[in-house]
Amino acid sequence: MSSLPTASLRQLAEAVGFDLVGFSRAEPIPPEVLCSWVEAGYAADMDWMGERAAERLDVRLLLPGAKTVVTFANNYYRDDPEAADSPIARYARGRDYHSTLRDRMKAFRKALQETYPGIGTYGGVDSGPMMEKVWAARSGMGYVGKNGCFITERYGSWVLLATLILDAEVDVYGEGPAADRCGPCRRCLLSCPTGALVGNGRVDARACLSYQTIENRNQEVPEAFRVAMDSLVFGCDICQDVCPLNRKPVFAESPRFAPRAVAGLGVMELAGLTPEQYAQFVPGTALARARYDGLRRNAIYALGAARHEQARALLEKLSGESSEPVRSAAQWALLQLAS
Ligand code: SF4
Ligand code: SF4
Repeated sequence: MSSLPTASLRQLAEAVGFDLVGFSRAEPIPPEVLCSWVEAGYAADMDWMGERAAERLDVRLLLPGAKTVVTFANNYYRDDPEAADSPIARYARGRDYHSTLRDRMKAFRKALQETYPGIGTYGGVDSGPMMEKVWAARSGMGYVGKNGCFITERYGSWVLLATLILDAEVDVYGEGPAADRCGPCRRCLLSCPTGALVGNGRVDARACLSYQTIENRNQEVPEAFRVAMDSLVFGCDICQDVCPLNRKPVFAESPRFAPRAVAGLGVMELAGLTPEQYAQFVPGTALARARYDGLRRNAIYALGAARHEQARALLEKLSGESSEPVRSAAQWALLQLAS
């Protein structure tokens, strides 16, 4: 198959709803990129980061004959007033972004296969062993900032990525990361409440509140980090909010990114969610990853960290809960009110 024209692939990507698209050669990634991060323990207990390392580093193991890695990005920034005080990270306030980006990638693949029958593809959105930010950087779409986020010129870091491998070449490839625009700035490092940013765009997941509020479902959040959770229940946007490169965000028009009703709930309401309310508000959003008890546990930590006196009655009730993480979080939060 002769090389595919990137101009028409770009048009197609735009037609299915992506904001940016980039192309990189499917060449192996140096092992130190992944290994140094995992070996230093920065992946916390996200064992899956170190698993399937060979495939992460060489996508030709995922798709035999892989020639090209296509990176798609969607801007997701919204500042709807009804979600202005939401303790949920921006990306998680609307419909689950995985399904949004997956639907768009599916439409792209379908159109691609109609035009180029027989073309082989392998894609994923935060799934599959692919190092999305590495591919995005190689495509020239942006670079990884000191806050560990992928930063684009037009949308700052308010972007979500999807990756598609092709077994065909394209006519033009990106030439490595865009120029680093962080310069001497260190705002994100200075603003991170838990010191999770360890330099060179690396994030120590063990200390990152994004990890602690989403992925750490099985253990208690260390006390030193709980006290920084006063307005965070799911994810953390602090190192993006302070970034000067995010000063001119572009409003994401797609209704897929519009906040859902759950983004209108305050910390108290999230802490006191009943199973019925959970079933009403959470399915179909990314919050489902934290699960019912994880979400409530986080909200309870947030009430404790904020020493929210009006929450006392609710916390007393929750301190007798059958769920261990919820009960012990409520007991801790009550101690904060007393201190
Ligand atoms: Fe720190 Fe929050 Fe950024 Fe994690 S997401 S590195 S906790 S500021
Ligand atoms: Fe770079 Fe400053 Fe933004 Fe951090 S806050 S990512 S150092 S520009």
